[in-house]
Amino acid sequence: MGLSEYRKLGSSAEKVKAMISSGRVPHSFIIEGDNNIDKEGFAKAFAKALMCVQMPGEGCGRCITCRKIENDNYEDMFFVRPEDRTSKKSGTLSVKDDQISGLQSRLMGKPTGGDRNIAVISHGDTMTQRAQSRLLKTLEEPTPGTVIMILVENGEMLLPTIDSRCVKLRLNDIDGRSETPMTKLAAEIVEMIAGGALFFDIRERLDKSIKGRADAYAFLDGMESALSMCMRSGGAFSRDDAARAVGVVENARTAVRMNVVPKYAVRDMVLKLRELQRL
Ligand SMILES: [Zn+2]
Repeated sequence: MGLSEYRKLGSSAEKVKAMISSGRVPHSFIIEGDNNIDKEGFAKAFAKALMCVQMPGEGCGRCITCRKIENDNYEDMFFVRPEDRTSKKSGTLSVKDDQISGLQSRLMGKPTGGDRNIAVISHGDTMTQRAQSRLLKTLEEPTPGTVIMILVENGEMLLPTIDSRCVKLRLNDIDGRSETPMTKLAAEIVEMIAGGALFFDIRERLDKSIKGRADAYAFLDGMESALSMCMRSGGAFSRDDAARAVGVVENARTAVRMNVVPKYAVRDMVLKLRELQRL
């Protein structure tokens, strides 16, 4: 699958395309998405888009590089997945310190196929503290050309020092997920902001529904989905505004994660979105 296939999971595919075409690809990413989302599939599509010379920014799916990436045997792409070798606590799988150490030595080597080494840490939120501390060293001083993708269900399990060094990409199953009260609310709020509704009215509507962090996260997911729809096919927000608005929503998510009272983080986001609409 090419990267475009992942447009259905929100704005991440577009962001990656833009980074590749600008030639500025950051070295580390946290790719967040629920359990049912194929994050490794996205990581492979990302890698193809990055390495394919036939269709850069997309991945042709037919060349030797794309095929090797698809089949898990591209020489410069390394996967780390949770293992349970200590098995003292049965049932708990985690990514261990020595796995990260092994990854680090592979990343020190020069890439053989292209000009990049790519590392994918699957279920990165199961990394032990020691594993995370070790990984941090690589994130601080990566070998040029290295791209590290940390796949997580819950980014809050990562050390803040890791979080702050990575670009966050979120995958949302927009079409597969049935409409929830929060996605409906988000669509309504997007319409209200675009229609120039009074802040007072918007706030009243929000305060009724957003009580805690879980509500706020669900609402922000809904906002991102609604804005992604605008980015793809236009709507209440123009495509350009929607792209900028997604950044504002992500900042609100970070604020909630940093323990800003969810209600205030959401209000602040609404104010910023209103300003953005007025420009
Ligand atoms: Zn290709």
